[in-house]
Amino acid sequence: MAGGSKSSSTQKPPRNSKEVETLAVPISTLSVAAVQNADDNDSKNLVPIVSSYNDRIRPLLDAVDKLRHLNVAAKEGIQLPTIVVVGDQSSGKSSVLESLAGISLPRGQGICTRVPLIMRLHHHSAPAPELYLEYSANGSLKKVSTDETHVAAAINFATEEIAGGGKGISNNPLTLVVRKNGVPDLTMVDLPGITRVPVHGQPEDIYEQVTETIMEYIKPEESIILNVLSATVDFSTCESIRMSQRVDKTGDRTLAVVTKVDKSPEGLLEKVAADDVGIGLGYVCVRNRIGEESYQDARVAEAQLFSTHPLLSRIDKSIVGVPVLAQKLVQIQAAIISRRMPEIVKKINDKLSSNIADLNKMPKKMNSVGEAVTTFMGILGSAKESLRKLIVRGEFDEYPDDNQMHCTARLFEMLEKFASQLNSAPESDHFSNFLADEIRILEENKGIWLPDFLPQSAFLTRLSSKVKGISGIPVGFVEEVWNYIENVVVTVMTQRCEDHHQLQLSTRRACHNLMARLRDRSINWVIEILQMEELTDYTCNPDYMTEWHKLMGARSDFLKSARDGHQNSPVSCSIPEFGTVLVEAGVRNSACLEQAYDLKMRIATYWKIVLRRLVDSMALHVQLSLRNLVEKELEKVVVEELMGRHGGAVEKMLEESPSVAAKREKLNGSIRLLRESKDVLATVMDRIASSSL
Ligand code: GDP
Ligand code: MG
Repeated sequence: MAGGSKSSSTQKPPRNSKEVETLAVPISTLSVAAVQNADDNDSKNLVPIVSSYNDRIRPLLDAVDKLRHLNVAAKEGIQLPTIVVVGDQSSGKSSVLESLAGISLPRGQGICTRVPLIMRLHHHSAPAPELYLEYSANGSLKKVSTDETHVAAAINFATEEIAGGGKGISNNPLTLVVRKNGVPDLTMVDLPGITRVPVHGQPEDIYEQVTETIMEYIKPEESIILNVLSATVDFSTCESIRMSQRVDKTGDRTLAVVTKVDKSPEGLLEKVAADDVGIGLGYVCVRNRIGEESYQDARVAEAQLFSTHPLLSRIDKSIVGVPVLAQKLVQIQAAIISRRMPEIVKKINDKLSSNIADLNKMPKKMNSVGEAVTTFMGILGSAKESLRKLIVRGEFDEYPDDNQMHCTARLFEMLEKFASQLNSAPESDHFSNFLADEIRILEENKGIWLPDFLPQSAFLTRLSSKVKGISGIPVGFVEEVWNYIENVVVTVMTQRCEDHHQLQLSTRRACHNLMARLRDRSINWVIEILQMEELTDYTCNPDYMTEWHKLMGARSDFLKSARDGHQNSPVSCSIPEFGTVLVEAGVRNSACLEQAYDLKMRIATYWKIVLRRLVDSMALHVQLSLRNLVEKELEKVVVEELMGRHGGAVEKMLEESPSVAAKREKLNGSIRLLRESKDVLATVMDRIASSSL
């Protein structure tokens, strides 16, 4: 049937522009051998469905196929115009591709297509078809020649190699190239069918796996969705419709192919006319090969069906039959390729120039120790300047959004936290068990001396136990400070040495050792400070005496209220400038009550001075240590580490680090690929410019 001509397989099909113009989208340069005469089935010659060896489209398609082959989508993220075949399981996807290609694909019930099958159809004038598969499996690229009889088996074999012997799927594609007289010049991707319920042997998440693969292919704006729908079902219930509607809301890039029209001709015309599911590119109704029919017979049967069937013959001829489908696809493909091509060229050029810029930004390979030393000193100088800004001056222009690097603010927070920990420690609580500890200490510090003197030993015992009690807090504070500073210093140094792996390792080691030393030094200093506080009770701060006098002024009132009333129950006393306290019966009755009050008020007043002194001196200590770190010690230890005892790291800078080498390699590879792509496109660029497609 198809072609309606008696052209021999070797003959170039006739160009017939008139027939083209009867189609919805006229492309004057396309030649069509359309189905004209369904009864003309005496010809068993290879009859072209669409002859599209068009001078302008062919090179474009070839260029896109070449780019696809170069894998620019996966490697460079540049999407290519692609016709993607989707449909529910057994809707007839593979059958449609078979009809277009005139070859047998694995077909049938259950899941046959388990990997994306990229089918490249090429018209060629030689009588003998040429078929081969290309895919990568087990780490190697394979090219397997086959023929029409064995292609289905070859596909099944390759599928097993890619996706394994079970029923699982893979998104690693398989390319089938068909060069054959009369096939339309089309590249399409057949995808696994959507299935809700896993059958025996299929992975539990088969639905998710399939949907993910399909989404990956239909999401790009560059994809045309060929939605295969069986006439036997309600289109609105098709999973594939739901999926394509998700990525193509307007339906502008979706074309529907309705299969199995022979099985369910009733109401088809109405279903297609109603277009309930919003298909922008229209419908084409087809009848595929049934059973072991030949392709020629199938086309004849199809043409007959659409011309004679009482219901099907009423459907407009411009939307029925495989030849019409082929024609439409060729047109759509030509349109999308020529529309997208300028953008692809731009993307390739942009990527190329940004990769070249990145490559130029990479560190130059160094050739002498002198060069390496200069580079190293430069790195050290810039690291020092950054640290000076962060730690000393509080300038964060290099790390505006990274709060962890805003050192002065973070250090201030740590100091505030330290002060509040001191103030909320049990040692700073002067109210619980009021005077009980003081009485205990006084009783043990009794001696043969006049009773109205408060023994200094009692005061120091009390002070010392309090200082011991809080000693963990300042030690914890300096540890926290140095841990934090180590992080900051290592972050800055690592970033500055990014391109020099050896340098990175050595400076990290040097910084780590230096920080450990500085931390120890600070801890020793803190311990010394605490010892001083334990040993001596002194301050020249006049606040001490002022406050002490105030509290002593309240002494007689306190003693009066503490001694008054029933002596066996606790009593609450209010002491101006101090607070309200609960005095237990044992305390009230103690002979040392007066001295205990003196001791408590002295220690409470003095404790404030001690805590302030601790916070102040920690603050000054941290500031001095950090300044020394940035201005003196860092440079010294890093230089020592790199050039001194262990040495060798500067010489090693001459060797390129593995990460830099890998980055350089990747950029070079990418540049090569993009240049190659650019060359591929350059050959067709002038055609695009002059094309009116
Ligand atoms: P896929 O899973 O979507 O690839 O579906 P297949 O192409 O494997 O087809 C599923 C079944 O439907 C096969 O048995 C085909 O022979 C059958 N089939 C496909 N198209 C038609 C058609 O137009 N008419 C009839 N009667 N059967 C068809
Ligand atoms: Mg299939």
